[in-house]
Amino acid sequence: MPFINVQGLTKQYGSSIYALHDVSLAVERGEWVAVMGPSGSGKSTLLNILGCLDSPTQGEIIIDGQKLSHLSKVDLARFRAEKLGFIFQQFHLVPYLTAIENVMLAQYFHSLAEEKEAAEALRRVGLGNRLHHLPSQLSGGEQQRVCVARALINQPNLILADEPTGNLDEVNEALVMGLLADLHREGHTILMVTHDPEIGRMAERRVNLHHGRLTEVSAAPIQEDLLVDNLLQAVWRAEEAAGERFLPADRLREFMTNRATFLLMAKEGSISLEGGLISLTPSGQRRADQLIRRHRLAERFFYETFGLDEDRLHENALRVEPLWTAPVTDKICTFLNHPRTCPHGDPIPIGDCCLKSQ
Ligand code: ADP
Ligand code: MG
Repeated sequence: MPFINVQGLTKQYGSSIYALHDVSLAVERGEWVAVMGPSGSGKSTLLNILGCLDSPTQGEIIIDGQKLSHLSKVDLARFRAEKLGFIFQQFHLVPYLTAIENVMLAQYFHSLAEEKEAAEALRRVGLGNRLHHLPSQLSGGEQQRVCVARALINQPNLILADEPTGNLDEVNEALVMGLLADLHREGHTILMVTHDPEIGRMAERRVNLHHGRLTEVSAAPIQEDLLVDNLLQAVWRAEEAAGERFLPADRLREFMTNRATFLLMAKEGSISLEGGLISLTPSGQRRADQLIRRHRLAERFFYETFGLDEDRLHENALRVEPLWTAPVTDKICTFLNHPRTCPHGDPIPIGDCCLKSQ
């Protein structure tokens, strides 16, 4: 039985407005699903109904074996407190309470007010030094991170996020998406609403809402350019490890399994394959430098901002880096103060922003 099972969900306002129309959806435990769709397509309605904040006109929802329609109001409230964590676009923080008090307020509802735990949750989202700030003394990104800490306080099985980065700048968007990627890795099930395809790409699966009707978007095939990017990095790393260029192509594991793509890359001029020796051309080198830089910066980002263990950096970086365009990468490099090495001690190629800062 799937973790979330939605059958024939309809939400009707008056006689003619259907916010949701016969929506069925199954989500497995530990899955990360993005619900996409334009404004007004019913995304928030779906999330609010799943979060027991709203009730459907018709249809059935089972979450973690519980049929929601069978729960009384009191049981629904308890179910919500124990199983669900919410992250909204509007932060919904209580303005006259400090960060730690806001998190503790959520604990209070979960009847486990524990200052140490609240502080720990805030530290986890990189706000250890902001515990006693009021929302008005925090930036938007910091407020959203308080919300993430608040959503985590009861170790929820299911995290519901409605446009979690809708009000954030790029660095904070990266921070919050990094937190979500991390939570997903830990096994939380995430249902995230977004209208932004770049954000949606981070999920494992995407579904689309259109005028209240749901369609599944097939899992995006690994795009050709993504594969090429990965292969360029593989060559770059092999050269770094060997300390020399022009390596025998058949020594590269990736070459053996992607010969056709390598031939294509040679034709397009990003690598050379002359005499069975593989090497990056100047343009391939530039591209690979950028990719390696982005990856190692992303690792440093997770390491410094979230204190992730070294063995988890690579995987988390892979998840967020497709979002990092060149300007975003420069902003994060600047945010991190132009680090020269990744947390594993490997050098980070220099970027334009590093040169300018010198
Ligand atoms: P989204 O989150 O995708 O922007 P919503 O779920 O908020 O969309 O809304 C879906 C549709 O339902 C919209 O057309 C909206 O106007 C309508 N709707 C939402 N709440 C109400 C309400 N209380 N009364 C009437 N219509 C509503
Ligand atoms: Mg909405």
